[in-house]
Amino acid sequence: MAIDATQPYDETNIFARILRGEIPNKTVYEDEYALAFHDIAPQAPTHILVIPKGPYVSWDDFSARASEAEIAGFVRAVGKVARENGAVEPGYRLLANVGPHSGQEVPHFHVHIFAGKPLGPMLVR
Ligand code: 5GP
Repeated sequence: MAIDATQPYDETNIFARILRGEIPNKTVYEDEYALAFHDIAPQAPTHILVIPKGPYVSWDDFSARASEAEIAGFVRAVGKVARENGAVEPGYRLLANVGPHSGQEVPHFHVHIFAGKPLGPMLVR
């Protein structure tokens, strides 16, 4: 079910549990600010999720409340993960869902990296 991105952070959400090591994941990158892992239900040959380590519900929450260091660290991590997974030259797509109209399901801010084939139109109409 799509979530309300204005709700308080829920410490029991699935990505919080992944960050605490309670649920396994296929990690591709980790540093002080971010964790990147393969999506459990990939929608492209490469489908990686990058999440900040801090408790942020959505892009809206992260962009408003995160420190400069957290924002810089996260953005650097997303770029590095795309680069290290060979996505830059053929191209890739970043996507962050925010709130009900976007269909955001997990209430911990995450960016999707899609790559590995031509990705088609931006939105299904
Ligand atoms: P959203 O719709 O919130 O932008 O995307 C949530 C994404 O998280 C979906 O693409 C979904 O497949 C992925 N996902 C949900 N649960 C898990 C999980 O337990 N492990 C991993 N690796 N991905 C998950």
